[in-house]
Amino acid sequence: MSKTTVGLVLVSHSRALAEATRKLATQMTGDAVIIECAAGVGEAGEELGTDAMAIVAALERAAGAQGAVVLMDLGSALLSAETALELVDASIAAKTRLSSGPFVEGAVAAAVRAAGGGSLDEVAAEARRGLVAKEEQLGEAAPAPVPVEKTAENETWEDAEIVDPHGLHARPAARIVSRASQFDAKITVENRTNGKGPRTTDSVIALAGLGARCGHVLRIAATGREAEAAVRALAALVREAGTKDAPPPQATAEATKGRGIPIAAGVAVGPCVRLQRATLRLSDHSVDDPAAELEKLTAALDRVEREIRSAFGRDDMATMHGALLRDPVILRTARELVTESRHNAAIAYHSGVNRAAEALASADDPYMRARVADLRDIELAVLRALGAAPAVALPEGPPAILLADELLPSEAARLDPARVLGVVDLRGGPTSHAAILLRGAGIPAVFGAAALLQDLPESPARLGLDGGTGEVWIDPAPAITAALERRRAEERAARLSAATFHGKVTIPSGPTVELWANAASPLEARAAKEAGAFGIGLLRTEMFFLDRSDAPGEDEQADLYAEVLAAFPGAPIVIRTLDAGGDKRLPWLHVPPEENPYLGLRGIRLSLDRPDLLETQLRAILRAGRGRDVRIMIPMVSTASEIEATKAILARAANALDAAGKPHLWPVPLGIMVEVPAAALLAERLTPHVDFFSIGTNDLTQYTLAAERGHPRLAALADAGHPAVLDLVGRVVKAGQAAGRAVSVCGEAAADPKLAATFVGLGITRLSMGPAAIARVRAALAEEATRPPETPKETGPAAARR
Ligand code: PEP
Ligand code: MG
Repeated sequence: MSKTTVGLVLVSHSRALAEATRKLATQMTGDAVIIECAAGVGEAGEELGTDAMAIVAALERAAGAQGAVVLMDLGSALLSAETALELVDASIAAKTRLSSGPFVEGAVAAAVRAAGGGSLDEVAAEARRGLVAKEEQLGEAAPAPVPVEKTAENETWEDAEIVDPHGLHARPAARIVSRASQFDAKITVENRTNGKGPRTTDSVIALAGLGARCGHVLRIAATGREAEAAVRALAALVREAGTKDAPPPQATAEATKGRGIPIAAGVAVGPCVRLQRATLRLSDHSVDDPAAELEKLTAALDRVEREIRSAFGRDDMATMHGALLRDPVILRTARELVTESRHNAAIAYHSGVNRAAEALASADDPYMRARVADLRDIELAVLRALGAAPAVALPEGPPAILLADELLPSEAARLDPARVLGVVDLRGGPTSHAAILLRGAGIPAVFGAAALLQDLPESPARLGLDGGTGEVWIDPAPAITAALERRRAEERAARLSAATFHGKVTIPSGPTVELWANAASPLEARAAKEAGAFGIGLLRTEMFFLDRSDAPGEDEQADLYAEVLAAFPGAPIVIRTLDAGGDKRLPWLHVPPEENPYLGLRGIRLSLDRPDLLETQLRAILRAGRGRDVRIMIPMVSTASEIEATKAILARAANALDAAGKPHLWPVPLGIMVEVPAAALLAERLTPHVDFFSIGTNDLTQYTLAAERGHPRLAALADAGHPAVLDLVGRVVKAGQAAGRAVSVCGEAAADPKLAATFVGLGITRLSMGPAAIARVRAALAEEATRPPETPKETGPAAARR
């Protein structure tokens, strides 16, 4: 079988169905395509059901360099597959497509396309079209897609069909809002299937009103300078949505007596405490100074936005919560009420949320309706920031099992694992935001337990739960309590072995390798610490400021960096200066659109173009870094002059802090990312200018192979193991070793166990990766690094080392 073609994973409740489907497909393709089954539950898969961990394992086997397409039968197969995508390594998740195609026809069509060398997206498209032949034969074929056209009024439009089985739910809608804001164009979306709209693209709430379901056709229309680009980009987003989105929570559908939905692995047993929510009491006093009141509201919104970033990092959840927080439906109402009716900020925002919640609650899409809970959560946070709502009332007393009725994400983010042994929630599903946060925090949890607990006359005194199976015990018998406690102790012992890991793997008869973590939020910094990382090898600061409308100030940045440092006390932290540009467009930088953004004003080039912004960031880093081992790293370096220019600004920043009497870190090590082939080729000449090198294999690969990273058709070229890339890595290692400069690798390739071993073979002793990859790379290194690396035989320092 070949790992050079796209692989398939068949997820079915029935092992027999999956195996038979595989047989049908392999009749067409022989063993040209890897087709893995993740089907059935129980010891031998004999029971009907699906298991997210089995899907993770199947993906790991099926997704080679080209990725994998997953076909699912029905119901919870989809949920399990979505959960698996959250659990599997990010590099595999990025090249996995969940297909809404029909199970049998889709699998056969996809296998044939994969065997013919189809790309990941082509194979996924083929799976989706699995019913076309049948439809044509029965005269039910869908109309052909409509191309971009221009109307007489100079309007550009394109129709796009929604393939996401959950319709245009909140996350894709938020992505549309966020992407639309990047174009100089007036854009509207209309649902051509049910006639709703057109609606503007500045509001998730407005888009919810389109009632856009799977199979509906949306017309995206625009006028203005970038109309055509906007229409194409948004139509592509609509079509893409669902190929990688999480599904809507299924609430209690899976709950059965004695068993809820498994959410976060681990067992727990202990006293039961109900989550108490404080009641809101809003004062309706009016204000004399509406301008000051609006300023208060803006400050509260900024604060909540920072909280969201800190809780969710840079993922879609942050984008969606950020979009809801500042949704124009809410803000227009709130501002009007403050300026025209002199309402106070709290009551005005509350009224705006009420209006938005009404719109959401009447949406056709159940997932959109379910977002009302997120909206209320955000409202509470804003009211808290305005001093108008009490802090969340979390249980006091000894560690306990928390019994909640729809835990809010902000509550989940604040739970202290030392005090909350586990969570049983009456509602919720595996992909709810609270679930994702609980998994991240390692708190065992079962959701969807209403059938079990709702009708009890009073809360149980004690609860037991197994977050891996979904089992819940109400007032468990002493024997069960003892068994659960024993299992919990075993789990703790296993975790402790991770906790005693301090970031160094010594390879038998080889070097000692430090495993560092990449982070983009305080939450990830905490995860890095828990994973036993040596330190943070790459803090991606631009991720803190993706969705803002204005430049972050020095104080705000210093606070954020201090939060990261506090989350990982005592560890060395490498803070990278803003790496904006390319696919990371920060609207507040107002960079004019570029033909080739990856080759344009990116990374340090942009920072040097805006020296004031760079100086502000450097001052913030120096202030936050006082008394800590903080190192500064600059991205996208191509020449020594860029490093020297940065040093001059760094010195200016330190002088300014001295002049203002603000204590700060000094001196500070300054290193560079090696991402541009020129920097790798000239590494030897750059050594006098730097304290360390960190190789960003993501960009180094894209620039070396001239293949845009993330380009759906160029996945085969996104290969950091290509001899040309390894040759460049070898050169940097050699230059670093000769001059006594540390060299690390911090691109995604460091998280790939095989490539990590190859880098170690090339002389790398410092790897930085996503926290979740550390355990896996640690295990693989001990096993593999002693083997000779698969390096180019033909040229370069890699060859010279052997
Ligand atoms: C890289 O390019 O490898 C890297 C780590 O930087 P980023 O992915 O943030 O561009
Ligand atoms: Mg990079």
